[in-house]
Amino acid sequence: QCPWGAPSTTSISCSLADVMSEQLAKELQLEEENAAFPEVVAAAEGPFITGENIDTSSDLMLAQMLQMEFDREYDAQLRREEKKINGDSKVSISFENYRKVHPYDSDSSEDEVDWQDTRHDPYRADKPTTTPRRGFIGKGKDITTKHDEVVCGRKNTARMENFAPEFQVGDGIGMDLKLSNQVFNALKQHAYSEERRSARLHEKKEHSTAEKAVDPKTRLLLYKMVNSGMLETITGCISTGKESVVFHAYGGNATEDKVIPPECAIKVFKTTLNEFKNRDKYIKDDYRFKDRFSKLNPRKIIRMWAEKEMHNLTRMQNAGIPCPQVVILKKHVLVMSFIGQDQVPAPKLKDVTLSSEDMKKAYYQILSMMQQLYRECNLVHADLSEYNMLWHDGKVWLIDVSQSVEPTHPHGLEFLFRDCRNVSQFFQKGGVAEALNERELFNAVSGLNITADNEVDFQAEIEALEKMNEDHVQNHGKKLSTFSSDGDPPIYDE
Ligand code: ADP
Ligand code: MN
Repeated sequence: QCPWGAPSTTSISCSLADVMSEQLAKELQLEEENAAFPEVVAAAEGPFITGENIDTSSDLMLAQMLQMEFDREYDAQLRREEKKINGDSKVSISFENYRKVHPYDSDSSEDEVDWQDTRHDPYRADKPTTTPRRGFIGKGKDITTKHDEVVCGRKNTARMENFAPEFQVGDGIGMDLKLSNQVFNALKQHAYSEERRSARLHEKKEHSTAEKAVDPKTRLLLYKMVNSGMLETITGCISTGKESVVFHAYGGNATEDKVIPPECAIKVFKTTLNEFKNRDKYIKDDYRFKDRFSKLNPRKIIRMWAEKEMHNLTRMQNAGIPCPQVVILKKHVLVMSFIGQDQVPAPKLKDVTLSSEDMKKAYYQILSMMQQLYRECNLVHADLSEYNMLWHDGKVWLIDVSQSVEPTHPHGLEFLFRDCRNVSQFFQKGGVAEALNERELFNAVSGLNITADNEVDFQAEIEALEKMNEDHVQNHGKKLSTFSSDGDPPIYDE
């Protein structure tokens, strides 16, 4: 017969659905083959390699996977160049900063185990249970998978379980339902477009809340807090600062050892180091963190900020200073009680207009809080101002203590002096006639007796004291427990 001749039958039509079912059949066959040759399956296991897990329906996923591959290749090339340039030279140049996949981005091993319920996540979809692999003959032309309607139909039913959770599929497996490829494909199509439609509906809402302010890893952490029931809902963002983003959330269920406050504030420390660089001095010289600082990568340093805030808040809580109560710390995310009500955070002292009576009350309260902080908590706030004090329930609450240090910190007294200046200026401007000036306030808080009557001399004395303390550390290998010499018992770290 002439190959160029017109075909005798014109009824061959090929719809998209047919092509798709062909593809599906191929996939199913692959699956069956893998089952028949388990060693092949074992070799092919891994997140992206098995045919099962490649979800080619998501362009974004594919793009991300490609990008990842590309980045890896780029990094490998970079390493080769680095090697070439450095050779055997004793002094080497590092291209580390030019890498796409940063070491601390990829070393997620310790990241993964940190969450308590990682081992069993009840919200993760189980692998679809496939029907018993009956009727399979694993040899040559006798392979039955592709054309066996019963097996294929059962498989399609089982695969339906993979549809979006809001897509009600019923108990097809229990009924031993057998779906033809055509029906299955139509359903799949429908499920996907439904999913996309509902995603579009929610898009607007989600972008306005917690969603966009944090990176995916943080978002996952937050979701897990909600999924575990610890938080009821995360309602929205209260504040986006340079170093942190704060969210409001309604507390969820109490656990065996924890009562969750009805409203919580979630402080997410930003995981980019940029803004933290100039704050190194707070933590680098804090002896509590000294041994750890040098060994840490930026991500861990940021977690340490969160940890520091937690420890400091706990000390303050123990001393009875009004401040947020720590609920939980997860990596760089600190959950604490919310100061305010019905999602409305308490106003900062700078934003609230107080009667002169309240103003005076606030002043005396702060004076005594600063003393408590110094003497009982062995802390200097180090960022105390009308921006970090909230007015709630007729009193002042202290917040934002991640940068707080012990008074014997190499710059501790300077920080205290700065705090005193802020407080003193705020209340003097606010019309509190009784407010001590910054130098008097400093002495009143620290119990020191610096007599200089001008700022320059005063600061020189402060620095001399700090230096004395440092020398003491050099000579005796430990800190003076406190600066004051009035016979107070030494205050030890908790
Ligand atoms: P930053 O380092 O960004 O200044 P803060 O701890 O000061 O971080 O928090 C920023 C803002 O978020 C605060 O000024 C306050 O308005 C709000 N905020 C923080 N913690 C709480 C809390 N526990 N309750 C209510 N509002 C809070
Ligand atoms: Mn602040």
